[in-house]
Amino acid sequence: MTSARPRIAILGIHLESNAFAPVSTGEDFRASCYFEGDAMIIEAARPAPAMPAEIPGFIDEMNASGAWKAVPILITATEPGGPADAAFIEETLARMRTLLRAAGPLDAVYVSNHGAMVSTADSDPDGALYALAREAVGPDRPVVATVDLHANISQRMVDNADAIIAYRTNPHVDRRERAAEAAVLMRRLLAGERLEKTFIRMPIAAPTVTLLTARGAYADMIVEGQRHVGADLPVVSVLGSFAFADAPEAGISILTYGKGEKPKRVALDLANFAWAQRERFTVRLTPLDGAVARAVEAGRSGRNSVVCLADVADNPGGGARGNTTDILERLVGEGAQRALLGNFVDAAAAARCHEAGVGAKLRLVLNEGSADAHAKALPVEVEVLAVSDGNVTGRRGMWEGRALRLGASAAVRTGGVTVLVCTRRVQCADPAFFESLGLDVGSFASLTVKSRGHFRAAFDEWYPDEAIVEVDAAGLTSPILERYAWKALRRPVWPLDRETQWTAPRLEDL
Ligand SMILES: [Zn+2]
Repeated sequence: MTSARPRIAILGIHLESNAFAPVSTGEDFRASCYFEGDAMIIEAARPAPAMPAEIPGFIDEMNASGAWKAVPILITATEPGGPADAAFIEETLARMRTLLRAAGPLDAVYVSNHGAMVSTADSDPDGALYALAREAVGPDRPVVATVDLHANISQRMVDNADAIIAYRTNPHVDRRERAAEAAVLMRRLLAGERLEKTFIRMPIAAPTVTLLTARGAYADMIVEGQRHVGADLPVVSVLGSFAFADAPEAGISILTYGKGEKPKRVALDLANFAWAQRERFTVRLTPLDGAVARAVEAGRSGRNSVVCLADVADNPGGGARGNTTDILERLVGEGAQRALLGNFVDAAAAARCHEAGVGAKLRLVLNEGSADAHAKALPVEVEVLAVSDGNVTGRRGMWEGRALRLGASAAVRTGGVTVLVCTRRVQCADPAFFESLGLDVGSFASLTVKSRGHFRAAFDEWYPDEAIVEVDAAGLTSPILERYAWKALRRPVWPLDRETQWTAPRLEDL
């Protein structure tokens, strides 16, 4: 049994790793979010905290639900990118261990992580993080975690946590709520309750665009899972997983926590459903030609907010660079008018726009000196419409109320296309990015976003589902999984390998 004022450690590392993207360095983490000790609590209390929303969400619910003592350890996060530098992860875990030991006796640990991290040395650093949390409190005190629904769940994570609670919305607008749910469950576990766990991982590497929660097979799984939640089954987590981590732990997973047979039955039913519905985890994108034609037509129509092109293959939110030129080049080349595009990540171009100043006309070469197979060097004549320091507070969607940093940014016009050029790699998932540069999203005929799906919760006031076109273009996050050289992903896996087989486990074996 625990004290009247339980001491709960809070820690976490957030990274969604795309194995095909450049390494995520310690510098990347430190520049995005790195807080230790009391600095975590101070940041969490700010109006727009520069940290994952789970941390303030957990703290607020714990504060609201009784006495406790927060023991802030360390939280760090960075934008989705390549595998984490192993030295940084080792150093961070060691630092956490030191701080945990110095913290004195603990009653519990709350872990906030993404769950799809790989490092340059390890396919499961999230498992190491959970093992560290378990080590800090021993076998009998609770460890509760929250993860992104794109987490790749390892056996090590399952073994070391009393419960893992996953987001249930994609776009992810329920991060605070899931952390609050973790706090509520923490109170129950601190009172002595214990839950049995059931874990099933499926050989399904679902392309990211098939994992929306507004519609589709995955959405159906979330709804069905929640229908069974009750006193004897407090947690049903359905993980869509993140194939691009190229890890053996990838695959749609179901985790239930509860008592008796019901949690096992619900997990098994969900797994059987996923397998029966596997055809719905296949992708159909719009070819580039057709998509660009829609934007050109929109410009001629005289109407606003006609079509939104989602550049799903170049989504910084999945580790891509945000600098491919396929769509932009075609929009300009075919004379699209009143087209808006963001966020194009090119630090050098943004700096040149700042030097030139508002109103200047200049020739830019996008990706100059940094071109690669997907991101061509593209010369464009531009007029600088506006510049900003890129410090923005999220207005709508996943990042509402969160401090975001695009770095030096500019709005430029080239032909009939207005482009948001920025320095830091951030997916286009908030209208505040455009608004901070004086651009009115609703005054354009088309919008092109470098985002896979999170933009949907941000731009839905102009672009409902039926106005969105997912474009087949080049990049590091194309949902056409056949285009990648997989190394560690467990094969065969659906839908990459059509011959994939799966046999349901027996209820009594779960
Ligand atoms: Zn996610």
